[in-house]
Amino acid sequence: MSILEGLLDEFKDKAKNVYGTASKMTGEVVDMGKVRYQIKQTQWEIDKTYTKLGAIVYESRKGAENLEDVITLAIAEIDAYNEKLEDLENRLRTYKKVSKCPACGKENDVDFSFCARCGTALAQKEQEPTQAPREATEEGSAQ
Ligand SMILES: [Zn+2]
Repeated sequence: MSILEGLLDEFKDKAKNVYGTASKMTGEVVDMGKVRYQIKQTQWEIDKTYTKLGAIVYESRKGAENLEDVITLAIAEIDAYNEKLEDLENRLRTYKKVSKCPACGKENDVDFSFCARCGTALAQKEQEPTQAPREATEEGSAQ
């Protein structure tokens, strides 16, 4: 009982933290290694939360106690981590100058119009200036 109350508090705090980190990261310049590290860490947090969720569901089924609130919080936490993960992976793709195929998930060069694996048409993103500015060419702005 007290363990579960502890978990409930933990989830409440966690939910705040996940959202806080995610919003704080927006617009912040971070290097690729840091992004990779954050992806690993976020995946690890997701795994941990799944494990906890399993324990909570187990306790909920075994005991008569209604743990719906805790379950809802655990699911919200996983959702928040997944959102953060998606954001981090997008960021990493921007650094690597690749985009993910919406059909098969393959990472293609951002300049590709079609996926190299499955041939799906890829949305062309506007090129944002990144840390590696391309050389100016004479015919650069021809339109
Ligand atoms: Zn594809």
